[in-house]
Amino acid sequence: MIIYDTIIIGGGQAGLSVAYFLRRSSLEYLILDNQDKPGGAWLNTWGSLQLFSPTQYSSLSGWQMPKSKEDYPTKQEFLDYLTAYEERYSFPIKRNTVVLRVEKENGLFKITSSKSVYWAKTVVSATGTAQNPYIPSYPNQNKFNGLQLHSVDYRDSKDLIGKKVLVIGGGNSGAQILSEVSKVAETKWVTLEPPQFMPEDIDGRYLFIKANSSYLDNNTHNFEEKVSLSDIVQVESVKEGLKRGVYDAVRPFHAFYENGVIWQNGEKEAFHAVIWCTGFRPYLEHLYPLNIVENNRVITKNTRSIKEPRLWLVGYGSWTGFASATIYGVGKTARTTVREIQAYFKIDS
Ligand SMILES: Cc1cc2nc3c(=O)[nH]c(=O)nc-3n(C[C@H](O)[C@H](O)[C@H](O)COP(=O)(O)OP(=O)(O)OC[C@H]3O[C@@H](n4cnc5c(N)ncnc54)[C@H](O)[C@@H]3O)c2cc1C
Repeated sequence: MIIYDTIIIGGGQAGLSVAYFLRRSSLEYLILDNQDKPGGAWLNTWGSLQLFSPTQYSSLSGWQMPKSKEDYPTKQEFLDYLTAYEERYSFPIKRNTVVLRVEKENGLFKITSSKSVYWAKTVVSATGTAQNPYIPSYPNQNKFNGLQLHSVDYRDSKDLIGKKVLVIGGGNSGAQILSEVSKVAETKWVTLEPPQFMPEDIDGRYLFIKANSSYLDNNTHNFEEKVSLSDIVQVESVKEGLKRGVYDAVRPFHAFYENGVIWQNGEKEAFHAVIWCTGFRPYLEHLYPLNIVENNRVITKNTRSIKEPRLWLVGYGSWTGFASATIYGVGKTARTTVREIQAYFKIDS
């Protein structure tokens, strides 16, 4: 029986970032990933997706992403980079391996997967959020006869030609998908607040400079507040949508009815389809047997579980490190995570 020092669950950018720092240690580690090829959640996103982070802020630790053809990389360019990153560092990865359960047995972690059982002294969970899409609940939602699709299942607009479509959610996903769908369908956009677009002259770079400053300043914002981290970045499709005037947004409706939605003033409006661009929650089902998951969270100090101190969680969002759910931000939390793992094994970093 092999007992690994560390098993990383999830081979997306967060898992690879941890692996990058682990490979420089003497620890024996392995990555388990349920996909059949590199790319993590990026494999299952819509075709025309453009990253909102410019090339130099779409790079993982140790190796800069090659310059993209446009200001913002395409999904395919980022997938190519992740594939090359994995090859460059020859990370040990077992693919097509779904981790079903993590349990404790005889002081070790017993990791039961769809392939076999693995044993480890420490575990890093880096399973992301894509397998747990979030859809807010509205009255009579299940009575709506039209199509309901989360952005994670949206691929392209071809099935929506000539339809009337409601896009819900005021982030980058909502704005990019709305731009594409509005070329072939009649659309309406629902956002909680009036959407904020980042000015064209302040590009996505600013977000990441700001994210980095916030991190370095320990979250004290001692610089000019020009934009918010949640502002929509003007990638090509968004610029083009703005020119066409597709971004008039309205506030949420009251409820669904069979053919559409009922607005706050009681008026009904029919739609063929609703696209939920309403984000994700951490995917932590494999950790349930450890009894440490509450409300989709694990109590952590930085990335380390308080109740299970040989378990670390990387890449899930601000609760696992500032900007840790971004390509640029995850490197910092991966590095500190590996330092803590090395300290546990009493190895110098
Ligand atoms: C539409 C969209 C656009 C985004 N654009 C940007 C951007 O431009 N710039 C930026 O910095 N960030 C962006 N993000 C945010 C973030 O960078 C991505 O969400 C990123 O994929 C998160 O990486 P991750 O490694 O944490 O998770 P994932 O990429 O989801 O990787 C987790 C891996 O673990 C696997 N896995 C899950 N459960 C199990 C299990 N039980 N057993 C085995 N394997 C498992 C998954 O299949 C996956 O391969 C975007 C996010 C979305 C949704």
